Amino acid sequence: IVSFLLILGLAGSMAFASGSQQQAASGGKAPLIGLAMPETHVERWQKDGAALKADAEAKGYRAEVTYADADQSKQNQQIQDMLTKGAKLLVIGSVNEGVVSAVSDAAKEKVIVIAYDRLITGTADYDYYITFDNFKVGQFQGKALETALNLPAGSKDKPKYITLFAGSPTDNNAKVFFDGAMDVLKKYVDSGVLKIVGPAPLSSSDTANFTRITTENWRADVAKARMENLLNNDAKNVVLDGVLAPNDTLARAIIEACASDAKYAGGKLPVVTGQDGEVASIKAIKEGKQYMTVFKDTRNLAKAAIELADALLKGQTPNIPGARLDTTSYNTGKKVVKSYLLEPVVVTKDNYKQIMIDSGYYKASDIE
Ligand code: BGC
Repeated sequence: IVSFLLILGLAGSMAFASGSQQQAASGGKAPLIGLAMPETHVERWQKDGAALKADAEAKGYRAEVTYADADQSKQNQQIQDMLTKGAKLLVIGSVNEGVVSAVSDAAKEKVIVIAYDRLITGTADYDYYITFDNFKVGQFQGKALETALNLPAGSKDKPKYITLFAGSPTDNNAKVFFDGAMDVLKKYVDSGVLKIVGPAPLSSSDTANFTRITTENWRADVAKARMENLLNNDAKNVVLDGVLAPNDTLARAIIEACASDAKYAGGKLPVVTGQDGEVASIKAIKEGKQYMTVFKDTRNLAKAAIELADALLKGQTPNIPGARLDTTSYNTGKKVVKSYLLEPVVVTKDNYKQIMIDSGYYKASDIE
């Protein structure tokens, strides 16, 4: 009888574990994961939000996504609401450093925080960061300019001209992207084969000059206005060969500004870099208007983030396939956080079909 009851009990608990494992863990209701995304005006974040939610739900969690319109006080409010609803873990793509107060509230309630895509700086109240190798993103952008402008064969007597743009001054990623690009380009500036038109920081630590090339909240209108201004002033008497643009949203704004300048009209656009693989930029790459983008597959990042969340909620040691664990490089200013880095991919007109369409990220009809 005892063994019969044991078997019954075992069978029952097995059915329970496979069917509603998460409910079991929290006495009826599945644990809530809060997904706080920074904005929707840059296309990727809607994909991140949707994929995170679907992946969390597929693992049996409840999940809620919010978008903050690049407004930190709005995001803090959204995070407070999630805490009030009893969220057990937060995945935060922060707007800026002002998120630290919300992160500290979460820590006080023993809610786990994962910094998503953007490092949260200025706090010791969380332990995990998951993102792409953002330095490599910048290196890819720098290498694209190096190749397209044929810099290794360049000469000081006939230098190439580029201008520099960076992302939001309050997004740590903006610095990392820029420093990655300069890791490739600086030697050509030093040797004189590459000339920078306009403000010329060679590192994000040249704060005064770096600030002058940043783009408030990654806004396209800000980048477009700055490009127009450059074309009418510092770049008036040269033909630009290239523009370092940190993402697709800004790349297209820069291209738009150039296209309405007589010097660049009719297919003589400068080589413009990008990032994210936004649908409009894939079209622009196909048409030869934008030179490249760096694709960071948000499906993979979301999946990895939820794997990490699941392991942490279950008190297990995370094992995130496809991600490189870096325990030394990412310092919030208050502590080094454990960081999981995924691989970005270069996309040009030679491989956009394979990377963006064959992979199922877009349909062929999306980019016609
Ligand atoms: C992300 C980029 C994005 C940018 C603007 C960065 O932190 O890494 O993918 O283009 O923010 O939203």
